[in-house]
Amino acid sequence: MDEIKPDTATALIHHPYQPPGGFVAPQVPVHKASTVIFPNVAALRARDWKSKAGYTYGLHGTPTAYVLEERIATLEGGLQSQLVPSGLAAIALVDLALLKSGDELLIPENAYGPNRELARQELARFGIAHRVYDPMDLASFEAALGPATRLVWLEAPGSVTMEFPDLRALAARARAHGALVALDNTWGAGIAFDAFAVGADISVHALTKYPSGGGDVLMGAVTTRDDALHLRLKGSHMRMGWGVGANDVETVLRSLATLPLRYAAQDAAGRALARWWQAQACIAQVLHPALPGSPGHEHWKALCTRAAGLFSVVFDERVPHERAIAFVDALRLFKLGYSWAGPVSLAVPYDLSLMRPRPAWKGLLVRFSIGLEAVDDLIADCAQALRAAGLDSGLA
Ligand SMILES: *Cc1c(COP(=O)(O)O)cnc(C)c1O
Repeated sequence: MDEIKPDTATALIHHPYQPPGGFVAPQVPVHKASTVIFPNVAALRARDWKSKAGYTYGLHGTPTAYVLEERIATLEGGLQSQLVPSGLAAIALVDLALLKSGDELLIPENAYGPNRELARQELARFGIAHRVYDPMDLASFEAALGPATRLVWLEAPGSVTMEFPDLRALAARARAHGALVALDNTWGAGIAFDAFAVGADISVHALTKYPSGGGDVLMGAVTTRDDALHLRLKGSHMRMGWGVGANDVETVLRSLATLPLRYAAQDAAGRALARWWQAQACIAQVLHPALPGSPGHEHWKALCTRAAGLFSVVFDERVPHERAIAFVDALRLFKLGYSWAGPVSLAVPYDLSLMRPRPAWKGLLVRFSIGLEAVDDLIADCAQALRAAGLDSGLA
């Protein structure tokens, strides 16, 4: 600013100092901006929001967000990834970008609950119908596929009841029918199995869970292996304005490097605790896809060696729900709350009669999310809570 002698207010904003380039560090810089500055009008007019070769506006991507998108795509075995403000927003983006009035989508009956709620409320209002299928019954799935079916949701294992479906068979039938296949890959996290190898077109991941790992960020990602499909999603993403905050991206980038280690640790602890529960007399069933006897264990085994640190137990139907609730209330290390894959172990009770069309059990279900505490302490916590509820010495 040779000709202008700026006032301090101006000088503090339009300061001439530029730090030297060449600062090289392993950490990804945090770029924060709504406005992206163009060098001239020609560049502004030539902007291309679709291309990651440049930048147009903070909402459409920053260097920090692009780096996380690339790493999530790598984690999932995809080619392109789009960040959104939550896992649920990732589900919504897929539905809203790919469906129109008159279309139908299929949702498994054990899907993450809000997925179905979105279909029941918003999608229904937009003239998009949904059908619910039993993911453990291929005949039920085939019967649900109709002439208007455009999108099929898969989830493995199912939410809360943890049934592991035959993903390859479901995806193959959906594709043969001409429907797109979207898989909620939050549980597998890109570690347990490859969503694209089993036949998904789109993988949705609640980064809130394993990629964050800290219980302190809400974020989601929609990953694809097809440029045209990615651009459909990216266009709707831009038009709906679902940006993510740079500090949240930074937090996920920081946690991402430890994801495989955390996944393995929570898997080992989860299986140890699940096996302990199998020996408790007050329990009718332990639902953990890596344990023989759990629904869909054979499908898990055909596809995976690893599992998330997440499982459920169903109390024997002779245990009154109040006694099982007393157990949950007596837990000390396990906190009562939703979400999972953070450092703190969590428990949530569910009444299956309110959630599933044909519940296989009458007893109360409790879902455990295993944190990073020492597993012996978690076992001791469950044992003391069973004693406090009078459930430690059989059912007599
Ligand atoms: C948590 C979760 C979501 C939603 O993620 P949010 O970031 O909490 O919106 C979606 N699907 C599954 C399987 C989840 O566990």
